[in-house]
Amino acid sequence: MSQGIPQGWYGASATAAPPREALSGLLRCDVCVVGGGYTGLSAALHLALAGARVILLEAETVGFAASGRNGGQIHTGFRKEQSELESWLGRQHARELWELGAESKALVRELVHTHAIDCALKDGLVIAAHRMSAAHALEREAEHLASQYGYTQLAMLDAARTEAELGTRVYPASRFDSGGGHLHALNFARGLGRAAETAGAVLFEHSRVLALDEDKAGVNARTAGGTISSDQVVLACDAFSGALAPQLAPYIGQLESFIVATAPLDEALYARVLPSDAAVADTRHVLDYYRKSEDRRMLFAGRESYWRVPKDVAGMVGPRMAHVFPALTGVAIDYAWHGTVGITRTRMPHLGRLSKRMLFAHGYSGQGVALATLCGKLMSEAALGKPERFDVLARVPAAPFPGGQLLRRPLVAAALAWFKLLDALPG
Ligand SMILES: Cc1cc2nc3c(=O)[nH]c(=O)nc-3n(C[C@H](O)[C@H](O)[C@H](O)COP(=O)(O)OP(=O)(O)OC[C@H]3O[C@@H](n4cnc5c(N)ncnc54)[C@H](O)[C@@H]3O)c2cc1C
Repeated sequence: MSQGIPQGWYGASATAAPPREALSGLLRCDVCVVGGGYTGLSAALHLALAGARVILLEAETVGFAASGRNGGQIHTGFRKEQSELESWLGRQHARELWELGAESKALVRELVHTHAIDCALKDGLVIAAHRMSAAHALEREAEHLASQYGYTQLAMLDAARTEAELGTRVYPASRFDSGGGHLHALNFARGLGRAAETAGAVLFEHSRVLALDEDKAGVNARTAGGTISSDQVVLACDAFSGALAPQLAPYIGQLESFIVATAPLDEALYARVLPSDAAVADTRHVLDYYRKSEDRRMLFAGRESYWRVPKDVAGMVGPRMAHVFPALTGVAIDYAWHGTVGITRTRMPHLGRLSKRMLFAHGYSGQGVALATLCGKLMSEAALGKPERFDVLARVPAAPFPGGQLLRRPLVAAALAWFKLLDALPG
């Protein structure tokens, strides 16, 4: 079993990436993008397509962090239900957000198609209810989305149909979303990188930005080897943005999520587990999420931690997988890895400006495959003088995590323990 590859199975199965140089010396451009995940890559691509001179600085390699190791699931909307957004922000603002959410899924599909990104994109996502009360909530929201937003791609499945689609009996009901889907996370990131370069963006790797400062000429992004001087900076470091911009640290939490990939399943097992081949996430706070890969493995994620990374990820996630799919008990686990999810207290993405010349977007709270890709595009629009759509998200009020620098992590860990307790309650 390989636990040494940072991006686990994604790292082992991805299409090759070209080697890229580290920044050296002083360069000038219109927009400097910091961070080479979906947010930064999408920003760089859209900026370059619009004719801007753009340079992207990535601390490691393209797709090294969340964008190269996530569940690959494409979700509808936001982590907060649309009905909650309406009560919180009002109907008009909630509707504008819904439209952006819908665009984010379409954007992923359009980018994959236009730039011929080989990332095994498939339709279909199931939200599995871990108890009946959760199923009722899923159904209420589906009815609301159909009647108020005309979204008719959700279908409730009872226990028998859920078992037929998922190949497990652990859920009393589920909701099938034909508008959701899944993809190979790292190949999507690498494909965006390739598309950005083809459009004219310059990408540097192994170029961690150590400081940002402003002078009359613009913003300076300084690495160990050089400096980019630009009119504007787009900050796209998600869970890590607080390290570069300490004023953002109270707004972004880090949660470790753990994934395993089994050995390729034989034909009988492959047909038996998850026959629908959709991606699945359950309704618990500390959720299981999983899907099958194009090379016939089960990729299963379960357990989360705000606190530490266990030595034996497979030993932790394997029993969860066997609980959901007893047929997978004893199947070899070939890869185990983890990644840091950037979360916000509101569970809504956090977008804004550090100054007139510096934009940021982070905190997709586990739903960044589509939303980060969109937010990169929205940052490109804002950097090019069209901030209206960026501002729809920037207007969502952000809330700092309580506790300050020292107490934040223990407090958030305590909250996670509390949510685990709630998940276990009957209902
Ligand atoms: C294990 C896991 C599972 C997930 N599953 C899903 C899922 O199934 N569906 C879904 O929608 N979302 C999922 N997510 C969330 C999703 O992956 C993220 O929301 C999304 O990838 C964020 O993209 P990003 O570009 O903003 O950040 P990242 O991909 O984290 O990229 C940020 C980049 O910035 C770089 N960086 C940091 N600091 C600096 C610096 N100072 N200088 C230069 N570069 C820097 C990092 O190296 C990194 O490459 C998951 C996340 C994880 C970790």
